[in-house]
Amino acid sequence: MSKQKKRWYDYLWIASLTYLVLGFFNILFAWLGLICFLVPLIISIAKGTKGYCNRYCGRGQLFGILGGRFGLSRKKDIPRWMKSKWFRYGFLIFFFVMFFQMLWNTYLVFAGAQDLKQVVTLLWTFKLPWNWAYHGTLFHPGVAQFAFGFYSVMLTSTVLGLITMVLYKPRSWCVYCPMGTMTQLICKVKDKKDGIG
Ligand code: SF4
Repeated sequence: MSKQKKRWYDYLWIASLTYLVLGFFNILFAWLGLICFLVPLIISIAKGTKGYCNRYCGRGQLFGILGGRFGLSRKKDIPRWMKSKWFRYGFLIFFFVMFFQMLWNTYLVFAGAQDLKQVVTLLWTFKLPWNWAYHGTLFHPGVAQFAFGFYSVMLTSTVLGLITMVLYKPRSWCVYCPMGTMTQLICKVKDKKDGIG
């Protein structure tokens, strides 16, 4: 049986892994994570598809590899409540509230009302000292504050994804991933609009 030929985008899991590692050395690399926020939105708005999830998401691939090829998943069905609309939309709203709180903290540092906090907040609760990854920059400390906050978001979603990967199917995170829910909503709205137009 011939193996399916690999494409360049099948290796994007390496980029996702590298991103997480770089955040240990220099927090400013966290800014690169914006790509994972903007590209799915651009694809879904421009094309009305979940092309990003289906092809280009390195994080989804990473869970697939760790849980599938490396057998780090129990491969159980995810509970029904986790697939439900209320949970997925509820999680999306919660995620946004936390995201805006992070932006607000960044703003406060930019405004000089708050000092830079060199911590990574895991699961929105645990403040991990992360000062070794900040070496000072030419930029305003607010730039670093955003990086700490954004890396916290990325690390938190990775940890949640890993937990659900182990407990359920490898890519269970994709069921309630805020980016997945958001792009799905955009596709639905676009579908409706195109149907009307
Ligand atoms: S649902 Fe989220 S993690 Fe899964 S492929 Fe889409 S963007 Fe990536």
